[in-house]
Amino acid sequence: MSFSPSNTGLSERMSSVADAIGSTRDGSFAQLGTAFLTRLPAAPLTEPYVVGFSAEAARMLGFDPSLAHEPGFAEFFCGNTTREWPAQALPYASVYSGHQFGVWAGQLGDGRALGLGEIEHGGERYELQLKGSGRTPYSRMGDGRAVLRSSIREFLCSEAMHHLGIPTTRALCVIGSDQSVPREEIETAAVVTRVSPSFVRFGHFEHFYSNDRIEALQALADHVIDRFFPHCREADDPYLALLNESVLRTADLVAQWQAVGFCHGVMNTDNMSILGLTIDYGPFGFVDGFDANHICNHSDTSGRYAYRMQPQIAYWNCFCLAQALLPLFGARYEEAVRGERSVEDAQRVLEDFKTRFAPALEKRLRDKLGLADERPGDDALANTLLEIMHANRADFTLTFRNLSRLSKHDASGDAPVRDLFLDRAAFDRWANGYRARLSEETRDDAARREAMNRVNPKYVLRNHLAETAIRRAKEKDFAELERLAAVLRHPFDEQPEHEAYAALPPDWAGTLEVSCSS
Ligand code: AMP
Ligand code: MG
Repeated sequence: MSFSPSNTGLSERMSSVADAIGSTRDGSFAQLGTAFLTRLPAAPLTEPYVVGFSAEAARMLGFDPSLAHEPGFAEFFCGNTTREWPAQALPYASVYSGHQFGVWAGQLGDGRALGLGEIEHGGERYELQLKGSGRTPYSRMGDGRAVLRSSIREFLCSEAMHHLGIPTTRALCVIGSDQSVPREEIETAAVVTRVSPSFVRFGHFEHFYSNDRIEALQALADHVIDRFFPHCREADDPYLALLNESVLRTADLVAQWQAVGFCHGVMNTDNMSILGLTIDYGPFGFVDGFDANHICNHSDTSGRYAYRMQPQIAYWNCFCLAQALLPLFGARYEEAVRGERSVEDAQRVLEDFKTRFAPALEKRLRDKLGLADERPGDDALANTLLEIMHANRADFTLTFRNLSRLSKHDASGDAPVRDLFLDRAAFDRWANGYRARLSEETRDDAARREAMNRVNPKYVLRNHLAETAIRRAKEKDFAELERLAAVLRHPFDEQPEHEAYAALPPDWAGTLEVSCSS
């Protein structure tokens, strides 16, 4: 497709961005065709303006960061110019289904998201997607919009997670508008541009399985294999190998979430990425005072997606994916035994979740404790710490960060972490055991501290930090958002000028509620 400035009103620079985005390339998701998506333009957004921009995400896509100041940037990235696009190149909403809160929900789909197409840069292909760009055939009762609050949260957390080293979709920018959107109260609309190698979810597979459209199911699996897991082609059963990839990536992902105290909030199967990326930031949260039962989503009344439930839920979601892929398994078996053997194969692959997750989390916890090698008793040491943290509601991030200051020789460095526990005696008992264990380590305190500070972040996106940036942004002051995003891009570094961003949450943070309404 080609956009000439004369027929779109775009500046030359914006039209070259438009030209770089293609949804008709070989192997792109959009090429799967009409069974998978509907093409339509975005709904117009009144007088859009730039709220947030990631220079880093821009560079990843091959854009110069000055692009954010280009006239027409906001118009383009809220979707306003898509009305001019040729029919065959229009943005697309994809169809998927899913289990929501454990219950089959039937057809869902991109109810407020539109794929713009792909950009190829630095040997990688990235799909760009607008979220909040208006109604689609999959909007059900929704208005197709996203509010400024949730868009800022998605933008900030995508960037924060990436810099924590946790697989995630990225965010290029947030575009705002004064156009009102009714939620519990009247809010304003915003559009986030999300970036990912793929937005395919477990729910995409469930959709075609549940409709008994096995050819489409296979085409989708082939797309994912060819684009992302080509080595699966060499396996005895490429589709089983695909399941295996997703299961292992999901196990690794959730181990990373647990290790950093991240709660996703809505782990429905339609919010699970086939590539094992963190996707669909809604009522997520990083735990402050540690509570293993922490529920970050105000709408999750049963606690299905509580912190401690996340690994089991991820495993359950993998079952849903396996079920959906079942018709593709076992082509190498005779028809008579095919069904039975396929189920056995799938179960074997699902077992790998457990054998992958537990050691992955144990390794992360050892690293968090600064234990260079593995000894019997290390798991118990980590679990006891988590237990006393839970009992004392000790701050998750600060406990691990401050632990690095503890000396293996004496209690002189204990205070910064000890003071986070109301029950000091319980902490002291644990610290004695920890010190005994550290005495078996060959690394000195300085080397251990440095290693620990590389895995225990100082800065995470605490709810109250996001909230402060959101409140300012609602007043059209975007400086705080930019500052916070910059702090979160270096979560492991000491940033003395930004000490306040690492502090315990203020009292008012306790009253913040985050729900599915976004
Ligand atoms: P979520 O729980 O945010 O992942 O959303 C579940 C489903 O509802 C997805 O199919 C979304 O696209 C859709 N959805 C959520 N909010 C809206 C909205 N405001 N308008 C239309 N669809 C929505
Ligand atoms: Mg979703």
